[in-house]
Amino acid sequence: YTVINVTVTLVNHASCFSYSMSKQEKSRWTEASESKHLPIYEHRHKLIEAVKENQFLVVTGETGSGKTTQLPQFLYQAGLCRDGKIGITQPRRVAAITVAQRVSQEMAVSLGHQVGYQVRFDDCTTKDTLIKYLTDGCMLREILTDPSLQQYSVVILDEVHERSLNTDILLGLLKKTPSRGSRGRQLPLKVIVMSATLETDKLSGFLGECPVFTIPGRTYPVKELFCNLIGPKDKDSSAYVKAVVKLALDVHTNEESGDILVFLTGQSEIEKACDMLFNKAEAMDYRYDVSDRTVEGLLILPLYGSMPTDQQRQIFQPAPAGVRKCVVATNIAATSLTISGVRYIVDSGFVKQLNHNSRVGLDILDVVPISKSEAQQRAGRAGRTSAGKCFRIYNKEFWENCMPEYTVPEIQRTSLTSVILTLKCLGVHDVIRFPYLDHPEERFILDALKKLYHFNAIDRKGNVTSLGRLMVEFPLPPGLTCALLKSAAIGCEDIMLPVAAMLSVENIFIRPGVPEKLKQAEIMHRELAACVGSSNDFLMLLCIFEKCKASENPSAWSKDHWIHWRALKSAFSVETQLRDILLRLKQQKDFPQETFKGSKSEILRQCLCQGYFTNVARRSVGKAFCTMDGHGSTVHIHPSSSLFGQEAKLDWIIFHDVLVTSRVYVRTVCPIRYDWVKDLLPKLHEIDVYDLSSVAREEVTDEEMARWEKKRVAQKQIESTEDTSKKLER
Ligand code: ADP
Ligand code: MG
Repeated sequence: YTVINVTVTLVNHASCFSYSMSKQEKSRWTEASESKHLPIYEHRHKLIEAVKENQFLVVTGETGSGKTTQLPQFLYQAGLCRDGKIGITQPRRVAAITVAQRVSQEMAVSLGHQVGYQVRFDDCTTKDTLIKYLTDGCMLREILTDPSLQQYSVVILDEVHERSLNTDILLGLLKKTPSRGSRGRQLPLKVIVMSATLETDKLSGFLGECPVFTIPGRTYPVKELFCNLIGPKDKDSSAYVKAVVKLALDVHTNEESGDILVFLTGQSEIEKACDMLFNKAEAMDYRYDVSDRTVEGLLILPLYGSMPTDQQRQIFQPAPAGVRKCVVATNIAATSLTISGVRYIVDSGFVKQLNHNSRVGLDILDVVPISKSEAQQRAGRAGRTSAGKCFRIYNKEFWENCMPEYTVPEIQRTSLTSVILTLKCLGVHDVIRFPYLDHPEERFILDALKKLYHFNAIDRKGNVTSLGRLMVEFPLPPGLTCALLKSAAIGCEDIMLPVAAMLSVENIFIRPGVPEKLKQAEIMHRELAACVGSSNDFLMLLCIFEKCKASENPSAWSKDHWIHWRALKSAFSVETQLRDILLRLKQQKDFPQETFKGSKSEILRQCLCQGYFTNVARRSVGKAFCTMDGHGSTVHIHPSSSLFGQEAKLDWIIFHDVLVTSRVYVRTVCPIRYDWVKDLLPKLHEIDVYDLSSVAREEVTDEEMARWEKKRVAQKQIESTEDTSKKLER
């Protein structure tokens, strides 16, 4: 995406220069001297003392002050790893990977040895690893196998201000862990909680009034401008992508040198914006269009979570002399990653956020306006090394009316099913009175318990079942795990493992921004769908997986079929890892076994029903479907599905996820027969929420259970003049 006016030699010249010193020598030299200039450096002795003296410590400081990359190194040098590793959790997987890479470079060791990372489906550590960056989700899994975290001497919870669900749960768990069994450990586990300058009193209070260490920051003023390109009524993404591109180009042409950081919400938008920026910048005449004569080119770089790491590394490198860098990023650049040289921010005002949608009863990735505090955090990224400017595409009215003061913590807006199962497996029976930093609404906890009961992961007393203990082993959503376990029980996991893997990686279909290419891609995808025989998106995923794997040159195959090779490659690796977990569990004596006969498509669909009976819909009028989970919402098949346009032929379907725009769309869809879910559906309406609320609180006596059972039977007799399944079918 480089657009350079002068000639290409400018870039060549610059790269010649930067590689004249041996590559590694140069980076070691600059990195070591750079880190000494970070604000945290001069406080290192006091910081190490504070860690040594306290079991809990809150560390706070402006983003970019060096908390994530430097503190673990200080502790390592001070010998705090003698008793075990240092683990640093990150809410985002990209952050864990990039930061580990950076720290291994700074320490001049190869990644995976002293310094390593672990994220879902990607473990880059060895037994020598002493500084380990991992996602909060991975840490939660480690606690399942090692409740007192014997392997660690220090655990650092990073980016706590982001308030991710897993980090919040870890906070509650670690609050108690250090006092738990110190067998084999000389010193109690130390817990450090790191956060940008927000809510530190609350955190300290939560951790028994532990001390707060503040790293004094240097920041420069940032001028914040409202540019009035969108207002409260503009929520369509094409509107804000265009506005963002326009503003970024205005900055490029009118402002003096300095890099630009643009905030958008996700991969497809970012790619679209980069294409638009490239085309416009290419058509520019630098002799007339750009006011700063020293600016001779624009280097456009996308940055989003699922990007290849070698491309990500480019983001951190300074642009060649005379070239302005423009990074178009998701929220990941707001706090997790710091890009130096940024003087201008272009803020779209939107973010992708997982929210529980009570209308459809599912978690949905929505694009929503950011909070005011988030907007301030984004603006602050322009003032790290000199005074900067933040251009907001929205107007003051949007700021006042659409943007909340603070972002609601994830624990208060998403489904808690997986974490509640983890807590239950950790022996936390009373999930309602667990120490939450901010308590989720009780109905969210009850919803989670209800879901777990539907999946047979807990019984009516709220205790984990043997199936629940198997389920918790898989880093997958519970429904998908259920389907996988069912397929394994009938010995057909070869069918379901690839599907589970394909559903766990980022989008595999390439959808180019240029209309003619998009058409080509769509034709190819339709051809792939036709190969499957019957329309079924899940089967299509399986088919793509198998075809690509069997082809002579898988990467060429992917390219020919407009499939992201990188996504497929990671699906191959995920499949192997899921298979390993399954093989280990299958060795247990009580692993369920059943027999089943049928075609491949039938096996697949019936196994899917075991996990997706909560996502069943039946066609109502025209192209609309009605969900069967008690919400009775109206949904439509998304145009990306191979079943789109065939609605008239369909009756019952199951779906993997939901997209809400002007309509509620279901994606990754598969037709089923009513018979396959007939016995499962009544379960969705069986449990009484009040029973669960008491179950969640305390151990239930058998007498109480008997009383409830009586009540339930009586109620059923009064209510069900008709058979439930008949009611449903109607
Ligand atoms: P904090 O955690 O306090 O926000 P970090 O430790 O993440 O700060 O960053 C400190 C400095 O290290 C920043 O100036 C940032 O630019 C630099 N840095 C971090 N990661 C990388 C990387 N992968 N490549 C180059 N520089 C980096
Ligand atoms: Mg950090």
